[in-house]
Amino acid sequence: MRKQIVAGNWKMNKTFTEADDLVNDIMNKLESVSLKPETQLIVCPPFPFLEMVSDYSDDSYFEVGAQNVSDQESGAYTGEVSAAMLESMEIGYCIVGHSERRAYYHETDAIVAAKVNQLLKHGLKPIVCCGEVLEERESNQQFEVVKHQINDGLFHLTAEQFGEVVIAYEPVWAIGTGKTATPEQAQEMHAFIRGLIAEKYGKEVAEETSILYGGSCKPSNAKELFANKDVDGGLIGGASLKADDFIAIAEQF
Ligand code: PEP
Repeated sequence: MRKQIVAGNWKMNKTFTEADDLVNDIMNKLESVSLKPETQLIVCPPFPFLEMVSDYSDDSYFEVGAQNVSDQESGAYTGEVSAAMLESMEIGYCIVGHSERRAYYHETDAIVAAKVNQLLKHGLKPIVCCGEVLEERESNQQFEVVKHQINDGLFHLTAEQFGEVVIAYEPVWAIGTGKTATPEQAQEMHAFIRGLIAEKYGKEVAEETSILYGGSCKPSNAKELFANKDVDGGLIGGASLKADDFIAIAEQF
């Protein structure tokens, strides 16, 4: 059975002390709720806080993910962080191809593919983001856009490699805008993505792949989004910065 995942993307927020407080709050909150056993929580703090956050959880409460990784193995790439470094810190997951990285740092599908390769080589699970911008949705190009991103970013993998991948469908017009995709829009796109995976790798692989929704997901709308059969959880930005909201979202399965 595929995993139900709620992953928090803290983006470039929090100082060290604030991050420490947030993870402390998450831990306290987790002690007073009981999540379904199949619900996997992932916390993705900024690089400098990865170790501190990992030390809290020891993998028993939540897994830890990075928000980015280099497409190169090692060497003279000032400011970059390699998959080998993340592996050496036992980081389990890494977000790749987030729309903010695609828009502000020119992360192309070829770069996404190279980053995914690095992560898989070093035993990390990529959380690969895809999604259309508003004009593409308005001109009904969303399926073509997402197909392209998945094809060029992921379909070079073998079926076995693909089994390690988590996909996050994040319509760009819904990220940080307070505008959420309707449950119908989310289900329609998730079913489309699962169909693409089935065509490429077969039904079994498609059924095992977790496909998360991202874009202004919050406690008040998570239940109706997660109730759809192809929506396997959420990638949460803003609402992951408050322990109460983050855990309340994970309780909506
Ligand atoms: C995100 O950036 O991945 C995201 C979903 O952000 P938000 O929840 O704030 O829309």
